[in-house]
Amino acid sequence: MMLRRPTVRVLAAATALVALGAATACSDDGTTGADPQRVDVAAAFYPLQFVAERVGGDAVRVTNLTKPGAEPHDLELTPSQVGEVNQAELVIYLKGFQPAVDEAITQSGGDRAFDVAGVQPLLAASAGGHDHEGEGAGQEEHADEEGNGGKDPHLWLDPTRLAGVADQLAERLGKADPEHAADYTARAKTLRAELEKLDADFAAGLKTCQRREIVVSHTAFGYLAERYQLEQVGITGLTPETEPAPQRLAEVAKEAREHGATTIFFETLVSPKVAETIAREVGAKTAVLDPLEGLSADGGGQDYLSVMRTNLQTLRTALSCS
Ligand SMILES: [Zn+2]
Ligand SMILES: [Zn+2]
Repeated sequence: MMLRRPTVRVLAAATALVALGAATACSDDGTTGADPQRVDVAAAFYPLQFVAERVGGDAVRVTNLTKPGAEPHDLELTPSQVGEVNQAELVIYLKGFQPAVDEAITQSGGDRAFDVAGVQPLLAASAGGHDHEGEGAGQEEHADEEGNGGKDPHLWLDPTRLAGVADQLAERLGKADPEHAADYTARAKTLRAELEKLDADFAAGLKTCQRREIVVSHTAFGYLAERYQLEQVGITGLTPETEPAPQRLAEVAKEAREHGATTIFFETLVSPKVAETIAREVGAKTAVLDPLEGLSADGGGQDYLSVMRTNLQTLRTALSCS
């Protein structure tokens, strides 16, 4: 690999691999040390892991700092994960999304870090939001609550933005590992084609619908809403909350009724209770609209592309699209 380590460390890692066996070496528990044959990449959460694996292929070893089934916003890093960040040859993360990751990167020096928030300017927190002419007060309370300058971090929910991340990651990996640069570029190109196909299918599938308002658990779908002309009504703000204010619940129920929403969306990694409460109140169903902040604990054989395709079908049903 490009970034040479002291020989002693490579030997130690090799010894550890022999001792633990090949299966353990592939686990992502952060205890197995570096793989001298591949670029060690630490990804901060699932969509970044997905891109790193697709672009890196067998030339990289990717670990995800957010375990499957865990919600990434409030991630805390164990000491061994901080070690993982320190030792990785590349850390792919989204600045302003996970404070613990930001802090570990600041402490270990930022030169090995790839911040995907820098690929394209982020949208404002209010983008894709829903407002009525002349009564804009309802959503504004959510704009400044996140401490990242009122920006929305959930950029991976626009497939074309994720393609941009893949392109830049290929460039970055090619610099760290010039021997495989052409492979990284080729794989990013393949992934871009798949993401552009997904984007085209979303645009076509959501073109003609009876409703365009989506009532969602937390305000994660700004990029999706912006890209496909939907309007997002978030029960909570940019970060999941388990107990939103009763006043907010009443506002959301009113919105849902006004727009004849048939479905209140909840997420796989957050309790559905609040969505269920509102759905009961307005006589709507609930369904999963997955913000892809992580896969479920068993993964279910899913990946970014398959979950997004399920999301598209869910939206088409809920919004009565033709
Ligand atoms: Zn989120
Ligand atoms: Zn409305």
